[in-house]
Amino acid sequence: MTVVDPQGEPRSMEIRARQVEAPDGELYVHGIARDVTARRQHEAELARRMHHDDLTGLPNRTLLFERLGHAALGALGGRPFAIAIVDIDGFKDINGRYGQATGDALLRELADRLERLLRDADVLARLGGDEFAVILRDVDDPAVADEVGRKILDVVGAPFTLRGSAQVIGASVGVALAPLHGTDPHGLLHCAELAMRSAKDAHVGVEVYRRSLEARAADRLTLADDLRRALAEDAIDVVYQPQVALYDGRTVGIEALARWNHPERGPIPTERFVRLAEDVGLVGQLDQAVLARALGDLASLHAADHAIQLAVNLSARDLADPRLAERVAAATAHAGIDARHLTVELTESTVMRDPAHDGAILRRLRDAGACVAIDDFGTGYSSLAYLSELPVAELKIDRAFVRGAADGLRDRAIVRSIASLGRELGLRVCAEGVEDAQAWELVRELGCSTAQGYHIARPMSLDLLRGWLGTGLRRHA
Ligand code: C2E
Ligand code: CA
Ligand code: CA
Repeated sequence: MTVVDPQGEPRSMEIRARQVEAPDGELYVHGIARDVTARRQHEAELARRMHHDDLTGLPNRTLLFERLGHAALGALGGRPFAIAIVDIDGFKDINGRYGQATGDALLRELADRLERLLRDADVLARLGGDEFAVILRDVDDPAVADEVGRKILDVVGAPFTLRGSAQVIGASVGVALAPLHGTDPHGLLHCAELAMRSAKDAHVGVEVYRRSLEARAADRLTLADDLRRALAEDAIDVVYQPQVALYDGRTVGIEALARWNHPERGPIPTERFVRLAEDVGLVGQLDQAVLARALGDLASLHAADHAIQLAVNLSARDLADPRLAERVAAATAHAGIDARHLTVELTESTVMRDPAHDGAILRRLRDAGACVAIDDFGTGYSSLAYLSELPVAELKIDRAFVRGAADGLRDRAIVRSIASLGRELGLRVCAEGVEDAQAWELVRELGCSTAQGYHIARPMSLDLLRGWLGTGLRRHA
């Protein structure tokens, strides 16, 4: 029972009553009323906590399941719905780089943005970590589900302000439909989760559940296991692609590129297994293995009087390792190589995600003696200010521009301006993907310093490389 106290505040009262019989035989009701307002408030708070997420105040997984159960009954009665799972890409890295408080603020803002996008009847919940779920009423068409997924991505994709600078964050969305893909809450959530994983693995943003995704996901897991085994057995090969000086054709360096010849499936495309390694957290191990192997090979080349530079590729995940510089220094020391002969290549988009943090890591690499090259240059959004502050020794022009430069004025202008930018900043400029004599002439005229590409040589085994280096160093000049 609720009563109003003299201050006008409602109070919850609990009444205990019992019947008593008076000596005269009359029946009375004897009762006491107790003010239980505080206890009720406490119970309500407990219930809210059990069903809501502390950080965002949104329904949590438990409440989502309850709502899914209701919605499923509705779906059986002719009211279809969709369940979408939204997961931020690389949230761990964001937390690692900016700290948890910033990560939390980002999740709260994301929750606000999503809430604004949805209709009243829809339900937004936080599943935990960086994962949100949305029940979307009256959606029964995979095409519409995909469209809603894209709208969600647009909302996530608007820049966030992290530590004072605008950052764009990606996400992956997976959608399942009821009753099309089932009406059991657990089953539906599994379908949406699987679709989200596939979207993330394939870097496509949104995926609506299909049966065929089950097989694909299982296949990827198997491949990841195989890769883990290959790394443990040291079965990843390394090939080398020469880099030559444009003014005299001398081979000045080699780039180490990983190769995986799968025992049953044959060669797996490098970009595919590198991405897989990044997604499942194996890329640090992969890069460490390639580095160790390549440094060993370089030592044997140096011993044969081929004083060349070695370039290895690192990925964004490597930069998140605070001990990267120490690991690289230990590897060069182990191989007996002076770190000045090592260049680490990092793509432009990797380095520009957080220039302040990455600048510090790159400086430690440089202090350890290694050179830093910015790979796939021209494809990212680096500002000149950042570039001039980073301890960078080389720019590698992305092969897309080199290819386009032969017949496109725009690409030619890009190659020319990167080359002159490099000169201004005192950096080496390497043109990648030089595929024919025309491209060779062009990048030389445009002012690049070195070139790499099929026209000069394809990536090759250490044995073939020895032959290549042995047959005289002047080519194409
Ligand atoms: P990248 O660093 O840009 O490497 C150059 C890629 O271009 C290589 O492909 C090479 O074979 C290819 N290429 C060389 N010359 C030409 C040319 O004239 N035309 C064309 N169309 N392509 C040419 P690959 O070996 O398949 O490697 C692909 C990417 O995988 C690399 O791109 C690099 O980002 C990554 N990668 C390779 N090895 C490693 C590694 O050990 N660790 C990491 N983290 N990434 C690696
Ligand atoms: Ca590279
Ligand atoms: Ca490249």
